[in-house]
Amino acid sequence: MRYAHLDFAALPSAIAGQRPITAASVNAKPNGALGVTLKPPAGPPLPKRPSFPSGTVYVGNNKKCGPSNNGAVCSANLCCAYPLNTADHYCGSTAKHCGVGRCNGQFGSCWANGTVTATATTRTTTKTTTKTTTTSSAPAATRTAVSGDKCGVISGITWKCPIGECCSQYNYCGTTTAHCGTGCRTSFGQCGTSSPPTSSGPAKVIERCTQAGTMAVTFDDGPFEYTQSLINQFNAAGFKTTLFVNGNNWGCIYSYASALRSAFQSGHQIASHTWSHSHLPEISQSTLESEFTKVDAALKNIIGRSPTYFRPPFGESNSNVLATAGNFGYTKSILWSVDSFDYEEGRSMAQKQATYENLDRSIKHIALNHDVHETTVTQLVPYILKWAKDNGVKLVTVGECLGEASSKWYKDVGSFPASSPNLSC
Ligand SMILES: [Zn+2]
Repeated sequence: MRYAHLDFAALPSAIAGQRPITAASVNAKPNGALGVTLKPPAGPPLPKRPSFPSGTVYVGNNKKCGPSNNGAVCSANLCCAYPLNTADHYCGSTAKHCGVGRCNGQFGSCWANGTVTATATTRTTTKTTTKTTTTSSAPAATRTAVSGDKCGVISGITWKCPIGECCSQYNYCGTTTAHCGTGCRTSFGQCGTSSPPTSSGPAKVIERCTQAGTMAVTFDDGPFEYTQSLINQFNAAGFKTTLFVNGNNWGCIYSYASALRSAFQSGHQIASHTWSHSHLPEISQSTLESEFTKVDAALKNIIGRSPTYFRPPFGESNSNVLATAGNFGYTKSILWSVDSFDYEEGRSMAQKQATYENLDRSIKHIALNHDVHETTVTQLVPYILKWAKDNGVKLVTVGECLGEASSKWYKDVGSFPASSPNLSC
């Protein structure tokens, strides 16, 4: 889907990511802000403010700020927020400005108790999610911007749009075609759709197929130098597989983009195995989120969409991992019912092959293998394909073995650049 029809001249406010100024919004006043003199707000001490870039425009009490005023920053000790039932941000010093719920640390101060870190973010709504103080203690941090606010890199902090929102070419979060179409910034949000996915709860854990007569033989930890050969063999056999890919594990995902495109274009399923193959229950919330979003961004660039299926590395997850995955549009956490132990060097190829030979085929299996091992691709895969043919077992994608339409294997389907600059691991 493209947006060639977009009339930019007709959408100046939307292009800038700003809400149109209406009589109602002009008249809307922050609660209690009128007549308040410039002084530190009552309450917890203000955190250290970030140093804003040179050229920043500062505005005073009761003035519009942030996305409501071309990115203007509130002057010292003032906070920039949606103060009270308004569509615009105003500078002020009350709890409505500086406290929990509305304060936006991108464009002013926030009380310490106004801080909401990524670990506490809920993504079920877009208006009340995250704001944060921009302390200087977290270099290279990634945080989630509030709906309608700025995205991109600001004062060394990477601001990503809330789930389901796009970062416009003018660096504002939103869901209009002006945000999600031409110039949309894939590094800071999704692109290419104005009807983004919303979380439908935690990802569901699945260990077996449901469709009669099917089996899903899957491969983890790639892409790597043997992935293309794997796909060629499955194509020649007329079977389908599912690749659970990492971003940066055995190799950088961008180095094997052509193999992934080849797999995708020939009907195999591409799913996430997270970016760096970490122990998901043991990492910080912000790192956990990036384990999903970085793979999403890479696959969006490589195959034009990002997946809804993932497999946690080592099979390790917990309720928070599954909830976080769900918040990023992942519907299924795929485990396995058969492990060939192809990664164990002490196990002979005959033993690995016997895993398949001895299967209880009354069970609709999901089988685990790894296409990063040469012997898996050169010896085990040919054996599996012949075994399946000889025994009338239909090898399909995980999505197909669960009876789910291929349109649901991916999210964020839309128009994307075939490649973007600065793609690296
Ligand atoms: Zn793995």
